[in-house]
Amino acid sequence: MSQNRQVVIRELPKGELTNDHFELVDGEMPGVDEGQVRVRTILMSIDAANRAWMQGATYREAVKAGDVMHTYSIGEVVESKDPSLSEGDIVAVEARWADYVTVKARHAQKLPDYRPLTHMLSVLGIAGKTAYHGLIGVGAPKAGETVVVSAAAGSVGIFVGQIAKALGCRAVGIAGGQEKCDWVVNELGFDACVDYRGGNLFRELKAACPDGIDIYFDNVGGEVLETVLFQMNMKGRVVCCGAVSQYNADAPTGPRNLPGLIVVKRLRMEGFIVMDFADQDAKAESDLMGWVKEGKIVVVEDVVEGLENAPRALTGLLAGDNRGKRMVRVAPDPS
Ligand code: NAP
Repeated sequence: MSQNRQVVIRELPKGELTNDHFELVDGEMPGVDEGQVRVRTILMSIDAANRAWMQGATYREAVKAGDVMHTYSIGEVVESKDPSLSEGDIVAVEARWADYVTVKARHAQKLPDYRPLTHMLSVLGIAGKTAYHGLIGVGAPKAGETVVVSAAAGSVGIFVGQIAKALGCRAVGIAGGQEKCDWVVNELGFDACVDYRGGNLFRELKAACPDGIDIYFDNVGGEVLETVLFQMNMKGRVVCCGAVSQYNADAPTGPRNLPGLIVVKRLRMEGFIVMDFADQDAKAESDLMGWVKEGKIVVVEDVVEGLENAPRALTGLLAGDNRGKRMVRVAPDPS
């Protein structure tokens, strides 16, 4: 039995990421110096961005071959050499795919005693906050407007459409496969959802958005973005959240209609990173929890059991096999 199991990146992918790019190894239990804490991993966030980190430096350092895979996680402090944190505290940390990590105490964010802990990675975590800040802070929706979101059944997408509905907008999703699209409408309450793999995205989107599109929350980039841009209304807003269609691609594709359509339709296209809005996180958390309590937001979590299954959790997410916020449970919640 290992002291500290870890999942290492054996080799960086060129093109599609596969489970073979990772290896489960037995690692040493990390030591704890003054000012540090040792954290037992409970839940690890699995994000499309994990793949983007392998392409080079983004809003954070790149991950390299030989690294224990990077992640955001929630864990329990099991040893502390800093007065700010004690054994038993629950913290959010930039961590690794490992049973235990050691971090500087000032880099560990102590979390309130809130259950279920999974909500701290979903509706109250990066997924919910990205949806909230991107839609409200960047998209500035007004009641009655049409909001389209891609990767609509994914971690961020499920919240974007539901927040749009809570604000009185028409919410239209784009997702892979008819079954997923039906789920988005029937379980999450979107007004419509269009299958981008069905071969008729332009026509079906037009039918689903009879008044055009005021806000496009773009999680995927590429050809989907190109298609949506044609249907944007004058003065529409394109919220650039990510480009998951490009993360496994050798060569980037589309959109080819830039900057022409931006000019003609007077569009605003703006990127953001969720941390840009950290000063508004408290309001985001309170609004999101309010909508959950009122039944306006359904929280869907997709929990994969076991550290050893983290590689397939990520490769599966990139292939679209998740519904809602994907995470890996490494250890049970503390009682
Ligand atoms: P996710 O949406 O839970 O999962 C990714 C989804 O992308 C899959 O379920 C799949 O659903 C879809 N997808 C995969 N390949 C695609 C393709 N070629 N074309 C269209 N859709 C494809 O993942 P997530 O972690 O929440 O990330 C969603 C997006 O948000 C990513 O772009 C990520 O980088 C971004 N993000 C940005 C921030 C920020 O601060 N800006 C923060 C968090 C996440 P289908 O079955 O529908 O294809």
